Amino acid sequence: MASHVVGYPRMGPKRELKFALESFWDGKSSAEDLKKVSADLRSSIWKQMCDTGIKYIPSNTFSYYDQVLDTTAMLGAVPSRYNWTGGEIEFATYFSMARGNASVPAMEMTKWFDTNYHFIVPELGPDVNFSYASHKAVNEYKEAKAQGVDTVPVLVGPVSYLLLSKPAKGVDKSFPLLSLLDKILPIYKEVIAELKAAGASWIQLDEPTLVLDLESHKLEAFTKAYADLESSLSGLNVLVETYFADVPAEAFKTLTALKGVTAFGFDLVRGTQTLELIKSSFPSGKYLFAGVVDGRNIWANDLAASLALLQTLEGVVGKDKLVASTSCSLLHTAVDLINETKLDDEIKSWLAFAAQKVVEVNALAKALSGAKDEAFFSANAAAQASRKSSPRVTNEAVQKASAALQGSDHRRATNVSARLDAQQKKLNLPILPTTTIGSFPQTVELRRVRREYKAKKISEEEYVKAITEEIKKVVDLQEELDIDVLVHGEPERNDMVEYFGEQLSGFAFTANGWVQSYGSRCVKPPIIYGDVSRPKPMTVFWSSKAQEMTKRPMKGMLTGPVTILNWSFVRNDQPRFETCYQIALAIKDEVEDLEKAGITVIQIDEAALREGLPLRKAEHAFYLNWAVHSFRITNVGIQDTTQIHTHMCYSNFNDIIHSIIDMDADVITIENSRSDEKLLSVFREGVKYGAGIGPGVYDIHSPRIPSTEEIADRVNKMLAVLDTNILWVNPDCGLKTRKYTEVKPALQNMVSAAKTIRTQLASAK
Ligand code: GLN
Ligand code: ZN
Repeated sequence: MASHVVGYPRMGPKRELKFALESFWDGKSSAEDLKKVSADLRSSIWKQMCDTGIKYIPSNTFSYYDQVLDTTAMLGAVPSRYNWTGGEIEFATYFSMARGNASVPAMEMTKWFDTNYHFIVPELGPDVNFSYASHKAVNEYKEAKAQGVDTVPVLVGPVSYLLLSKPAKGVDKSFPLLSLLDKILPIYKEVIAELKAAGASWIQLDEPTLVLDLESHKLEAFTKAYADLESSLSGLNVLVETYFADVPAEAFKTLTALKGVTAFGFDLVRGTQTLELIKSSFPSGKYLFAGVVDGRNIWANDLAASLALLQTLEGVVGKDKLVASTSCSLLHTAVDLINETKLDDEIKSWLAFAAQKVVEVNALAKALSGAKDEAFFSANAAAQASRKSSPRVTNEAVQKASAALQGSDHRRATNVSARLDAQQKKLNLPILPTTTIGSFPQTVELRRVRREYKAKKISEEEYVKAITEEIKKVVDLQEELDIDVLVHGEPERNDMVEYFGEQLSGFAFTANGWVQSYGSRCVKPPIIYGDVSRPKPMTVFWSSKAQEMTKRPMKGMLTGPVTILNWSFVRNDQPRFETCYQIALAIKDEVEDLEKAGITVIQIDEAALREGLPLRKAEHAFYLNWAVHSFRITNVGIQDTTQIHTHMCYSNFNDIIHSIIDMDADVITIENSRSDEKLLSVFREGVKYGAGIGPGVYDIHSPRIPSTEEIADRVNKMLAVLDTNILWVNPDCGLKTRKYTEVKPALQNMVSAAKTIRTQLASAK
């Protein structure tokens, strides 16, 4: 019984790669420095896996930016705007594609399936001249080999690569990307031949798109591609790896019949139905790589349960054909628990990060071959038991309250148009009211204040004074700009989810639990380990203080339950919706306390609602139902005159527009300026929307200052499809990453655009 790891985090236990990359990009260190840090990281990972006893150790899962971009480089599919002239692709071209350069923008980035990792989308068309232009896979194989580690080189499979790409600019939207298989397969063959020549005996081709709802012509592309590769793959053991969900029955049939393939990898943490397919129809004589150790979360594996599952599978495929593995690449979990010095021992005993998961996989493989490490297994069993029975996990009152929510429905009693009328009487806003999304620029000084307060270097009093002054500055600025609904600017918050998580019970925070989001960017999701409750008000102090500074309405600013859930490591001992309902109840308490404190407009951000959408369409309705219900729960108990806003960080919600409407918020502000047409087309197609809506009028991701005319033009376009009395005017998202020198003139132009149009509308009457 052997062990395998699908892939491993690249950043390093203390984000060494991040710092090396950023220093190189800033011109503070050389390419050689960057290469050295990277080689050291790779080498330590290989050594760790080798010392642990892992049999199938991956290589080429390292990346300077992204594995899909690496594949684009391998295939020489560099878009022409980067002026690449051939030869081996070097850093300059590679990082220009990833991040843009002074004269050309970066390639588009999008979410990798339902993870928070983002990949660089290949831009393809009939004119791309593919050529073998990056020998990275072969070089890394050789590099490991020179260190005495015979690895399994990993490539993004050819069909998934094409299915994840998009037609390049100027190429017809309907261009059949799969028709490029004939052009890219010869390059895959070259790579495979080189790997063989270098001594590789295994190769792993990741084809995660097999878990999606694929039409039959896409499945046929797999059959065709692997038939074409068959002869070049001969002599190698070939693993086709899938992850993140069940493989649907049709895809399972296609996959297990692929020519030239000797092993199949499945995510058995999320793929519970795949298990049934394996039991009933796994082909005999092939290897089964059973992904039983969760690569998407930070919990220690229930080793006894996994061992039992592996024993069952052994009965299906035979001892020598079963391999214990991770459910997906460990890229999506934190790196190493060893650096967590602040977590207490009890919580730590419940966790396993990537380094620990490698040990778990190995322990399972050994146990199955009769060499069970009894001490390791019993320590694990004790930790599982302590997690089940710990009073820190269970809060009976919360359990009861959240259980009562299931299967029920919660809505504000009055319909949205009547509510808007009641609110308008109280708020007395002009048409096209202006507002912002919440945060204002976070200065170096501000970050210092928060840091020193956290480290107890400055007193509570000094901290409150500094934050109050900052809020005052932001309030004065907004009054000066003549914005209608104000915000306090969120100076007390570092990260929105962290801010609430730190004040809720049931959450734990790591010191180094970073997960790559894109490029050098990492996030450190909180860990939800127990029933969630709110010991005391979280935002009332600052919101009331801010409201006292102005006569204009001051928005209370909260993060919604679905977003907190989707941006955390969530417990795996109860369904996600149950945890979400618990958070919803905590936020509900906060909403009601804000209302009591005299706050009349409350924004509950659901930036990440769409992110949680399951990969498979059949599961969408169930998710949207409890997610939207959770949002409504937060504000079901308030008066008609209290106005609820929500904000979303994407505009691509044409497919879920009815769920958005069903959230029943009074006003929704949404990102829009990077995709005007998409959003407006929903309304043009006749979707009835009666609540307030503020599609962002300018892109806050760019330092560029939009002109009054440009903003007015945007607003006018919106007015062509939306009623005058429901439209709000606001930027795309929070302003915290921008500078005041950009924010001031931009908001000035925004307000002046709103005023110009108001005057025009008034005189047109
Ligand atoms: N209120 C938050 C802010 O303005 C919203 C951030 C977000 O949508 N990600 O920063
Ligand atoms: Zn946003």
